[in-house]
Amino acid sequence: MQNQSATALVTESSRAHSASYRPRTAIIGAGAAGMLQAIKLREAGYDDIVIYEKANEVGGTWRENRYPGIACDVPAHHYNYSFEHNPGWSHRLALGPEIQEYMKKIADKYDLRRSIVFGTKVTKAHFDGRQWQIETSTGKRDTVDFLIAATGPLHVPAFPDIDGIDDFKGFKFHTAEWLDDLDLSDKRVGLIGSGSTGTQAISALAERGINLKAFIRTPQWIFPLPNRRFGKLERAVVRTFPFIGRMAGSFYGWFFEKVFAKAVISDGWQRKFLSGMCKWHLSRVKDPVLRQKLTPPDEPLCKRMVMSTLFYPAVSRPNVEIVREGIVRATENGLIDQTGHLHELDVIIFATGFHARSYHRPIEVTNASGLSLDQAWKDETGAHLSVHVPGFPNFMLIGGPHSPRGNFSAIAYSEAIVDHIVKVIRYCAENGYHSVEARPEALAQFRNRVVAAVPKTIWNTGCRNWYQDENGVPENWTGTPDEFRDILREPNYAEFNLAA
Ligand code: NAP
Repeated sequence: MQNQSATALVTESSRAHSASYRPRTAIIGAGAAGMLQAIKLREAGYDDIVIYEKANEVGGTWRENRYPGIACDVPAHHYNYSFEHNPGWSHRLALGPEIQEYMKKIADKYDLRRSIVFGTKVTKAHFDGRQWQIETSTGKRDTVDFLIAATGPLHVPAFPDIDGIDDFKGFKFHTAEWLDDLDLSDKRVGLIGSGSTGTQAISALAERGINLKAFIRTPQWIFPLPNRRFGKLERAVVRTFPFIGRMAGSFYGWFFEKVFAKAVISDGWQRKFLSGMCKWHLSRVKDPVLRQKLTPPDEPLCKRMVMSTLFYPAVSRPNVEIVREGIVRATENGLIDQTGHLHELDVIIFATGFHARSYHRPIEVTNASGLSLDQAWKDETGAHLSVHVPGFPNFMLIGGPHSPRGNFSAIAYSEAIVDHIVKVIRYCAENGYHSVEARPEALAQFRNRVVAAVPKTIWNTGCRNWYQDENGVPENWTGTPDEFRDILREPNYAEFNLAA
């Protein structure tokens, strides 16, 4: 980056205005990332913060997703804040409700609730040239210096476009909008999708003896990671000697970042190892017809790897039928597949994922020129370092475009982003800069780096997934998690326009 021009800009601005100030920051979303950002800002002494949360409880994805079998597929001892290790996890892969309890405890312990405005959706945010003007669903308005979208990329459910689906007379819902009171035990259930969510839900429903048809368009590779329940003694030992849990967390961090993440971005022993394990796992399905139905067409890790030892036994049960023939349309009684067969159903469950580029949406974010972020991202989403959008000063994203997402802890990389954001805010506050904005050329350089690494990634082997756009450009970071932490560690202010 061109340090010289930015230094000149910084120096000029410093002369113009050097008084430090106390910034007010709004965070959108009280999920794992939003709470983390609030904790870190307060720790840094910036306690004029407000978190707008659309629901009435913290937890984000873990509050919203309540489907049977929900668990985190990153080992629990690695899936907690580094400064709040939980020695009490009950399973290797923590169950959803347990993670939600952890999030609630964190909110209480750090007294975050006093900063959270619950039941309030941010609807609009407009940068007036100096500050962000916020409008909300309840009519409450706010003016803040910094606006942080901790909304996550995957929060708007995606529904398949099935002809006639509105005619279906039974129950239909997305896994993220589970009908808790609906008794499925006497129903004929169809579940569409076999990603991480579908696999977990199918396994749990099959285990409960539900009469289930699993509509699988593209089978996925499944890494055999057993979700072991920790015994009483084991848990007592970890509670007494918490360093054991931390060591386990470090091991899993190493394993997931150095093996899974590495296998995605370059060819090597990691890719061969994971591929071999998945293929061996599939070979354990004894019925050749079923095995054929479950064989993915692409390379392991092309889609986000599913972790389970429950799925293959689950779909081998007599109460489960796998339907590989594509869905053509729906009728009032069920789904018709490509062969013309009508699958009569009482319930259709969509485990069909999320709109992968939702980010701030549906919030209308506009800059001082009236340009909306949706317009700015019409052709291409992009944020420098995944955080800063040129043209949108003082607006930052956690988990934005080209941030790492895959088989490793979202909390671990969020910590790097959140620390970076605190540094930027501190720099502005201490030096009297009321506006910080990534330069377009900095974003271009960042994006070039991401794109240049694509040929070596597994995604280049020819596959379809929600990571990539129609040109094959992944929405994900294409380096190692360590490289991502490196680029965020010390903000390079030459890459930003700073103004008093
Ligand atoms: P997903 O990975 O996007 O999977 C969606 C599934 O729906 C795929 O099997 C897809 O098939 C299928 N599908 C979509 N439209 C369809 C249609 N019209 N007809 C038939 N099938 C259709 O969604 P997800 O499983 O909800 O997972 C999304 C992300 O959430 C994950 O990648 C992960 O980041 C996160 N997640 C994490 C955990 C965890 O434990 N940490 C658990 C669950 C989810 P195709 O492959 O053919 O498109």
